[in-house]
Amino acid sequence: MRDVPKTIIMEPKIKITRTTDSKLQHIDFENIPLGRTFTDHMFICEYENGAWQNPRIEPLALIPTHPAAMALHYGQAIFEGMKATVGEDKTPLLFRPEENAKRFNHSAARMGMPPVPPTLFVEAVKQIVGVEHHWIPPQDGSALYLRPFMYADEPFIGMRAATSYKFIVICSPAGPFFTKKIRLYAETEYIRAADGGTGEAKAAGNYAAAILPTEKAKAKGYDQVLWLDANEHKYVQEVGTMNIFFKVAGKFITPSTSGSILKGITRDSVITLLKDKGFEVEERPITIDEVIQFSKEGALEEAFGTGTAVAIAMIEAIGYKDELITLPEANPVSQGMKNTLDEIKVQKQEDIHGWIVPVAIEEKVG
Ligand SMILES: *Cc1c(COP(=O)(O)O)cnc(C)c1O
Repeated sequence: MRDVPKTIIMEPKIKITRTTDSKLQHIDFENIPLGRTFTDHMFICEYENGAWQNPRIEPLALIPTHPAAMALHYGQAIFEGMKATVGEDKTPLLFRPEENAKRFNHSAARMGMPPVPPTLFVEAVKQIVGVEHHWIPPQDGSALYLRPFMYADEPFIGMRAATSYKFIVICSPAGPFFTKKIRLYAETEYIRAADGGTGEAKAAGNYAAAILPTEKAKAKGYDQVLWLDANEHKYVQEVGTMNIFFKVAGKFITPSTSGSILKGITRDSVITLLKDKGFEVEERPITIDEVIQFSKEGALEEAFGTGTAVAIAMIEAIGYKDELITLPEANPVSQGMKNTLDEIKVQKQEDIHGWIVPVAIEEKVG
């Protein structure tokens, strides 16, 4: 993976054009349709002639797209997922945004796309949140979901890296995500990622490839696919858009990320928080057979997925071939971890690791 080029340290000047027709008053924050509601504005800038141009915040609108735009044909498209919350004093807050900037550029590098200077990425996210702060839902467990993304919009038929791209950030208010326990289907036919592939990138195509297997798992009565490794269908990788943790005889095990597993920022944070609480956390390859064995021995105590969207999703059961691994009803440590993470994000617990980044509110002018 090539290094992200050093960026010139300067405050990107982001021009703000406000809407005259806010939809804010039509939103019922108690009842937000998931992923369908968008705020009034978006951040947008274009990559042309080797540089990011004209960073601006403007009213959310359709983007004219040439039918030969390369992203539509060859799939150069990547994204991030982040959340803005509000603290006790109503200051908008971000969680580890530099980590998202870093991962975005890791994804970009793998897909042959230009990096976005981390200062531009973080400033774009901060300023759109500063403009849209009234859209951050106040309820516990709610947040303003942020979706930074980049795609190739050069009109060209032919296989090579595009020369023009768009980098955009849109925002969608989200109520408390499914707190229901999830059932996973350990997939032995389809794969998500192989070593050397794009599994470590948040690349759009990875999710396209997961749609059919996920639909099939849902038809069998499961919520999500538990992905196994591409070579042997043996090693546990991750779940949908979440990393996975098992609590086994008092300690935690999570698959090591080398190669084909997305390096979750929630995963990294949870490892730190578990260690803070005195738990041992092993990052190592773990097979589905081991999980079954632990379960049979009564050593499998808890299991959960981690990701920005849900924070922590408790796992109820895992189907694998003819077996059904069921987890114990109680998951005290996972629940405690979820509370800790949620409380750090709204400043109800001390942020000892310096993960929280406050955002300045962009006051309306004129
Ligand atoms: C985004 C994502 C995750 C979780 O990453 P976070 O940074 O914790 O949100 C895990 N796996 C996949 C495949 C993902 O796309």
